[in-house]
Amino acid sequence: MARFAQRVSTTEASGIRRIFDLAASLKNPVNLSIGQPDFDVPEPLKDQAIAAIRAGKNAYTQTQGGPELRARLLAGPLRGLGEREVLVTSAVSGGLLLSYMALLDPGDEILLPDPYFVMYKQLALMFDAKPLFYECYPDWRLDAARIESLITPRAKAILIGSPANPTGAVHSREELEGVARLAKKHDLAIIADEIYDYYSYDGPPARMRDLCPEKTVALGGFSKSHAMTGWRVGWAAGPENLIQAMTKFQQFSFVCAPSPMQIAAAAAVDFDMADSVREYRAKRDLIHGGLVDAGYETTKPGGAFYIFPKAPWGTGGEFVEECLRNNLLVIPGNCFSERDTHFRIAYAAKDEVIRQGLAILKDLRKG
Ligand code: PLP
Repeated sequence: MARFAQRVSTTEASGIRRIFDLAASLKNPVNLSIGQPDFDVPEPLKDQAIAAIRAGKNAYTQTQGGPELRARLLAGPLRGLGEREVLVTSAVSGGLLLSYMALLDPGDEILLPDPYFVMYKQLALMFDAKPLFYECYPDWRLDAARIESLITPRAKAILIGSPANPTGAVHSREELEGVARLAKKHDLAIIADEIYDYYSYDGPPARMRDLCPEKTVALGGFSKSHAMTGWRVGWAAGPENLIQAMTKFQQFSFVCAPSPMQIAAAAAVDFDMADSVREYRAKRDLIHGGLVDAGYETTKPGGAFYIFPKAPWGTGGEFVEECLRNNLLVIPGNCFSERDTHFRIAYAAKDEVIRQGLAILKDLRKG
């Protein structure tokens, strides 16, 4: 029997898995739990990947990423940055792991939003760093004074996700400026998770990397924007010394993002997904309007494809178990939070499925 590292016990298995186990017995559930687009990769981008494989683009690329994707990024969304300020990563998960690795020693603290994307907390535990949660309840706004009250001399970094999973919050320029001031005053690095940047429904989102470039490593990618969740391509952009530290760790871990998928991602940089975003905006309105009509307490999401209403009775967990008994698959809030008061709906689904889910939720509202 192997003697495991301590991180095996300190890292918690995802609570989402437990829900999927419970849901395994459901036949044809109304599934509003899936955190990926309900459309497939656009055909021209699939063609690019297939052509790249056939053309023999199957070997390692340079650690920092292949020339095609780097050139498109530097000419497009990352315009103005230098060559050494950009790293192609194995999707945003890879970027998160490398940024934590470059910034956090055991015992260091990282400020995380609560609610949070599951990986933010578990990566901290994996690195033996301490997560400090800044609460964003009840309306998912960033409160700089609340965040500042948590900062100790061991705090090294703050993570900002916008648009956010699981709340769909898109933070305003003023909120992000408040965080930028804190980062400068307390010498914190900012990890900005921009994976849902495309899905911003009420105008272009403010971006941490524009407001505080000297402190921010921004992480973006193609998993959600172009439905490439299985292709594992993303990027990290930030100060040269931090990106070079992450590049060093990539060399000894991921090596590079998948080569042919980098070629397809290069084509994705300028591939217009505006129609999908418009459709998802309408889905956002459908789910939010339906929940409000049914009497749920909820905040209108500005982006991503999630909404995080308050459970109308019981804990988030108890309410979700009742949803499961009624054939509706959603995720309890305590998978994403230190609290158990809310639940997450992922509305990346057909309108018909969203309507079925709303009908069930309307019935369950009274308990
Ligand atoms: N960040 C957030 C907020 C996410 O929701 C996800 C995936 O669900 C990721 C990062 C990981 O994305 P990727 O597939 O690019 O690794």
